[in-house]
Formats: sequence, structure tokens, C-alpha cells
Amino acid sequence: HSHPLSDLEIARQATMQRILPLAQTRLGIPEDQLEPYGHYKAKVSLDYLNTLDNRPNGRLILVTAISPTASGEGKTTTTVGLTDAFNALGTMTMACLREPSLGPCFGMKGGAAGGGYAQVVPMEDINLHFTGDLHAIGAANNLLAAMIDNHINWHQNDESGLDNRRITWRRVLDISDRSLREVITSLGGVGNGAPREGGFDITVASEVMAILCLATDLKDLERRLGNIIVGYNRKSEPITARDIQAHGAMTVLLKDAMKPNLVQTLENNPVLVHGGPFANIAHGCNSLVATQAALKLADVVVTEAGFGADLGAEKFFNIKCRKGALQPELAVLVATIRALKLHGGATADTLDQENLTALAKGFSNLARHVDNLRRFNVDVIVAINRFSSDTEKERSELMDYCRELGVQAIETDHWAQGSQGAVNLANACLTALSETTPDRFKTLYPDDMFLWNKISMIATELYGASEIVADQKVRDQIRSYQAHYGHFPICMAKTQYSFSTDPHLKGAPNHHVVPIREVRLSAGAEFLVVICGDIMTMPGLPKTPAANQIGLDEDGQIIGLF
Ligand code: ADP
Ligand code: MG
Repeated sequence: HSHPLSDLEIARQATMQRILPLAQTRLGIPEDQLEPYGHYKAKVSLDYLNTLDNRPNGRLILVTAISPTASGEGKTTTTVGLTDAFNALGTMTMACLREPSLGPCFGMKGGAAGGGYAQVVPMEDINLHFTGDLHAIGAANNLLAAMIDNHINWHQNDESGLDNRRITWRRVLDISDRSLREVITSLGGVGNGAPREGGFDITVASEVMAILCLATDLKDLERRLGNIIVGYNRKSEPITARDIQAHGAMTVLLKDAMKPNLVQTLENNPVLVHGGPFANIAHGCNSLVATQAALKLADVVVTEAGFGADLGAEKFFNIKCRKGALQPELAVLVATIRALKLHGGATADTLDQENLTALAKGFSNLARHVDNLRRFNVDVIVAINRFSSDTEKERSELMDYCRELGVQAIETDHWAQGSQGAVNLANACLTALSETTPDRFKTLYPDDMFLWNKISMIATELYGASEIVADQKVRDQIRSYQAHYGHFPICMAKTQYSFSTDPHLKGAPNHHVVPIREVRLSAGAEFLVVICGDIMTMPGLPKTPAANQIGLDEDGQIIGLF
């Protein structure tokens, strides 16, 4: 960072507007349809949103990225900068973002509300407890876990009931804690139940989070929660949350969490920050309810999907847009010269130095992402997120490559300049939108394609793989899901650092093989998770966690959050 000020200092200098008048003047939401959480955050009533059904939808833009470096290429900052730029140009625009988990805040990656002069505020609140949604999701998840163990305790001789050895539901916690990944519960004697192996995931990895983000309303939420498979009986038949009558109480715990949260950018433009499922074992984008609300409230909606476009955009299109009948028209593909050099063989510690050879080689990564996005019939604009280390030569070479590829590329500098740094991008987007229509969008595969073929299509057509492979056991499992769940979309779980399943294979690899290690059915979220590699559902803290630097100063202000 070359800024004299930290993200937190910039955020604190912002002149925020009170959220109730902001919602009223900018979005026309009457005060009594908002539930304020303090002065700068509010939940929007679902009843009110239902009254907007007959309004036309705004235009939907997805912000995605090339395969990233470990620090991220700037999807969130671009989403915020572009939203501010549209508004500065007079186009009523809202952003939709995921809500952050506490885990990364205290670990390595830091906050997730943007950075520099492209941020969403109040930054501390959004990154910490916010409006309590994550707590509600954790409580719903863990209520189900408690009811499962209680059910076994009282029905252990019931032949058709849950088998203590076949429980798949795990507990969750919104703190990165590697020591809880595998645990044994019910130690301490008969009164505590029968010991069994269990474990904890981080809250955002809970299927409850994925369900909340895909549910269309409270009824749909309850139906999906009821469909969660919590384990199997002795005949290996699935037992659901409905079978143990947990779904009603879970829905009650989630009724407020279903309402989207309204906040603002540094430039006082409205943003919905709602829901935040993992981008590997889940689909990695904010709630459908929030996106649909924003489409009714604004003329343009800018939203972000986690990871690179091979994962984030693919799942946004094939899972979320399919389920919600959304019609995205434009994808903004964020690229950095740093990441392209990494893809061209430069090492992570030399990305600050000019390297035209690596840049030229790494361009293949961007080219494949552009190609992939176009398969969904959306327009693509490349947004080159400027870093102070980018050289003149590198910048002009990258523009030349994009011209040769036939894709429009615009440099952005919103991180340093706010909306003014993304005005050119916003203008390019407006021109693109004026030349397209929402009915062009298509998903990659139809519902009725075989599960195996859906997976194969993603791997061969988007990842450049020659084939997918799996053990007989995994193939049998996929086959067994075909009859009941064959219409489900696929939720790929693989590394974000490569098109392949090997994070070190940079650029745009071809002829690689995608091994499927495991499949997991998310019967409530309604997708099949296909695991290709090591997937971490409970992160650990690094040797020097960010938490070491976080505290309160003499004035009671938070320091060290970034
Ligand atoms: P993503 O959403 O793709 O993970 P973010 O927008 O959150 O990426 O950005 C990742 C990190 O990089 C943030 O800390 C952000 O402040 C920082 N960042 C983004 N763009 C720039 C830039 N142009 N110069 C310096 N730092 C940047
Ligand atoms: Mg982000």
C-alpha cells in the first residue's frame, strides 16, 4: 500500500449519511419499512420488497477476476469503485456484496469491505458483528446439531432412526480454529450420550449459509432447511432435518437474517451486504434476496462473485442466476499486471519489478477467462486494476494484448481515487449495456444433462482439461444421485489459483486431468458439491495472526483492523 492512510483510517474519515434518510431519498424506501441497527445500518423489510414485484428489473453486472494471487486482485474494490462511478455519472446504481466472516479478519486476509478509496462503511461493523446474521446462521446450524444428538440419545434403539456412526452434519463457529476440525463429542459417561466423531466448520461453510443465500423467501427457506440431509440410518437411507423436525425452529432463528442489510459506500451510495457462502463448497455470492431487491431498487446493480471467474462466475451463472432467473448482461473481468506476471512465471516476491516476458506469457490466463465468460452470452470488459508498481511499458503492452484479443480493456484507479478512478470503466459499461439485452444470457448446461456430463463439461470447456477421472466409489455415488438429484447444478470445489487442480500450474494449462476426490450432496442448497483437491472448511490462524495487532486505543477506537 502506498497510501499514507490505512483502510480503517480512510473509512473513519468518511462522512456517512444516516441510513434512514439515505434509503428514503435515494431508494424511496419509507422509514417504517426499514429496521435500523444503529444509525448507519438497516435491514430492509421483506414485506416491502414483495410490493416491488411489478417493477422492472435494473441491469445486472457481475464483477469477477482472472485467477488471483494470494492477496486478491480487487473484485470488491472494483465493485465499489464502479458503483460510485455510475452514481457520479447520474446512473442510480447499487452494489451487492457478501458479508465478511470473522475468521479472515483475525487471520491473514483482513477485512472484506473493499479498500483504499473504494470501501463500504461502517467498515468495523461490517467486518465484525454487523447485524448478527452470521450468529443467527451459526445458531441455526448448531441447533440442528444439538437436535441430532438429542434424537439419537432418545431413539437409539429405533431401527429406522439416525445411525450414530453415519452422521454427516457438523457444528460451526465463526472463528478460524484448526483444533476443532475433528473432535469427539459425548465424552463423560452415559448421561452425555454415546461418543462419536464430529467436527467444526467455519460458519460461512455451513449449508445453512448457502441455503439462506439461495432461498427466495421464508417459505422456500424452511423447505430447503427441511431437505438438509443430516446423516443416514442403518439401511443407509438419508435422514433429513425435516425427519427430526428441526426446520421450523431453524427458520425462526433465521427470520431476521433473511432481510438484506443496507449500508453505504465512502461516497454515500447504497449497498446491500447480505450473506456470504464459501466459494469452494458453496457458490460464493451474496444472497439472491439482496440481488433481487437491488434489481428492483436501482437502474444498475453491480455484484461480485468469489475467487476467479472459473469458479466464481461459473457458479454465479450456473447456480445463482439459474435458481433466481437472473439475467446478467455484462461481466467485468478484473486483472492486475502483478497477477499476469505471476501466471507468466514470475515469482511472488518479484511482482513489483517490470517483467514484460512474464506479462506476455501470463496473458494466456486472461484470454481463457474472457473466452469462458463469453460462453454465457454476456459482454466482457477487462478492468485493469492499477497498482503503483505497474510500469508504462507493461501498461501499454497489456492494452495491446487486449486489443489483439478483441476485448475492451479499461484501466481503473478507484483504490487511490474513488469514483473518479472508475469513471472510464463506468462509461464503457454504459455503452456496452446500451448495445445488449438481458435475454441473451444462457447457462452453460441444461438442468437435465447427466450429473457426470455437467462436471465433465465444466472441466473440459472452462478449465481446458482433457477429462475428469474418479474412483469407482465416487462414480457409483454420482450415479446413485442421478435419479433424485440429477437436475441439480454442480458446485465445483477446487483451487482458485489455477484452471487445473494444481495451484502451481499457472497461465492457461491444457490437457490436464481433473480428479474428483469426493462428492457431497447439499440437498437443501440444491447443488452437488464436487471436490477436486484439498478443501479447507475450517481455516487455521497463521503464525502471526492479524488478531495480534488488533485492539482499542486510548479513545476507544479500534486499531489494527484492515
Ligand atoms: P478481491 O475482492 O478480489 O479479493 P479486494 O478488492 O478485496 O480483492 O482487494 C484485495 C486487497 O488488495 C485489499 O486489501 C485492497 O485494499 C487491496 N487493493 C486492491 N486494489 C489495489 C490497488 N490498486 N493498489 C493497492 N492495493 C489494492
Ligand atoms: Mg472480495
